[in-house]
Amino acid sequence: MQLTGKSIIGQQQSEKTEGKSFRATNPKTGERIAPDFYSATRDEVNVAASLAERAFSEWSRASGKTKAAFLRKIAENIESLGDDLVNRASEETALPPPRIKNEVVRTCFQLRMFAQLVEEGSWVGARIDQGDPSRTPVPKPDMRSLWRPLGPVVVFGASNFPMAYSVAGGDTASAFAAGNPVIVKAHPAHPGTAEMVGQAIRDAARECHAPEGVFSLLFDAGIEVGLELVKHPKIKAVGFTGSKEGGRSLMDAAASRPEPIPVYAEMGSINPVFILPGAMKERGAEIAKGLHASVTLSAGQFCTKPGIVVTSADAETAAPSRTFADAFRNLMDSSGDFTLLTSRIHEAYLSNTKARSALKAGSGTSQALSSAKVESQAIAAGFQVSPAVFETTAAAFREQPALHSEIFGPATMLVRYSSREELLETARSLEGHLTATIHGTEKDLREYADLVAILESKVGRLIYNGYPTGLEVCHAVVHGGPYPATSDGRTTAVGSRAIYRFARLICYQNFPALALPDELKDENPLGIWRLIDGQQTREPLPSKARAISK
Ligand code: NAP
Repeated sequence: MQLTGKSIIGQQQSEKTEGKSFRATNPKTGERIAPDFYSATRDEVNVAASLAERAFSEWSRASGKTKAAFLRKIAENIESLGDDLVNRASEETALPPPRIKNEVVRTCFQLRMFAQLVEEGSWVGARIDQGDPSRTPVPKPDMRSLWRPLGPVVVFGASNFPMAYSVAGGDTASAFAAGNPVIVKAHPAHPGTAEMVGQAIRDAARECHAPEGVFSLLFDAGIEVGLELVKHPKIKAVGFTGSKEGGRSLMDAAASRPEPIPVYAEMGSINPVFILPGAMKERGAEIAKGLHASVTLSAGQFCTKPGIVVTSADAETAAPSRTFADAFRNLMDSSGDFTLLTSRIHEAYLSNTKARSALKAGSGTSQALSSAKVESQAIAAGFQVSPAVFETTAAAFREQPALHSEIFGPATMLVRYSSREELLETARSLEGHLTATIHGTEKDLREYADLVAILESKVGRLIYNGYPTGLEVCHAVVHGGPYPATSDGRTTAVGSRAIYRFARLICYQNFPALALPDELKDENPLGIWRLIDGQQTREPLPSKARAISK
């Protein structure tokens, strides 16, 4: 596929060949990769938003079958890009081809999962409370409700998932599935990958006769286009994955609009791992191996990477805990170097690890265990870094807000507690995160039942005897968590429930059948699950009630 470097606006390609432009960078070498990509203009932002608004009136009423065909076509078109897509994505991100191939599989799986969801149709949560005109003292109205789409959605592609959280990622798939047009602001770290996937979506829209403007892809060398989109009156919701600063700034911009809109931002998380005494004694060395694989997977650039590991320092478990720490540190030290995604992530990793290693154990703060490696990095041409392991006391962790922040990359920190009460205090001191993991025996779980209770209020996913990376995309998964992990801890960015972020409830009172959506008609023509007078059923309404509602 020929890359043009130009934004896609509906079915059209931007004509722009001058003004602000940028190129992708090869993270391994620091070299720029052709072609030039041109920032969208303010006019192009307006055209994309107007087309999306117009497309909404048709796409919001498209049948589940129509939306499913579009989502499946996107997946098919992405798959047909084959190695061209894999190679370009690998060149732009330094993520190895097998990892990119896995991500293509996951992306297409997500698209098909949403296709199946909307084709089946029960996701709309239809509810009917039958009216009773003879009820006294006041007649009971006929009430029917369901989830409907919001309107044009802006999606910010993530740097660390060039497929699964980017142009055709989970935010885009769930927004389309709910019936919303999508405008993607491409992440500048992988613009060629973004254009290839963007062309696949544009072609799918044409092939499936989806309305013009159901999809646009805009490039930008900076943050202006993204901000303009978030503030644009025709935009009704935002999906974002990235830094806390970026997410917070978009949340504030959306909240300060004359008509505030929801921003679903997935931001930083340190994903605490608690190793309880029984598990530490039983299999400390095995946990060290699993943890090392999880911390270094994709150079530690997962939002689910374990950023702190809480272990005991009391007399009973001091020895196994120290053996675990030594084994883990040895594995990290022998890992070699890692290449990070972008110069910004590289610089942040270098300065954050340096700042953390400068904190001295003697002053009640953290101590670097891999300080020699941390000090000697930053000489390479590309974005290479060394892994880092820090260690601190639970007391210092609770007192130092800086130790609660995410270091994006192959770094983690061991936090040592000296009593059961201190472990619980440490858990209570946590902010909102995406996940928390407990390694324990059943005896541990009984003894530390209150730890589970504390963590339930801190995270979206609790893992037992496993690792937080390697998220399963399915119906039950929750990939969210209280602020600052995400902007809205009531939702998930992964799995089929993600669709509800881009939908809202509407209720029809005493409406005649001819004006009701199919999902709410007495006959249940789509055969979906509905809650009728409090009972879950796929049956049509009895004919007496049908007569009333007509
Ligand atoms: P980022 O800096 O937050 O950028 C993400 C996207 O948002 C980019 O398209 C960026 O545009 C845009 N953006 C950022 N700030 C903005 C603002 N104030 N207004 C409008 N648009 C804005 O994230 P990143 O580049 O992917 O990585 C930086 C850091 O984010 C990492 O070091 C890591 O800490 C964190 N991160 C977290 C996750 C996660 O899953 N939790 C994933 C990736 C990164 P520009 O690039 O043009 O500025």
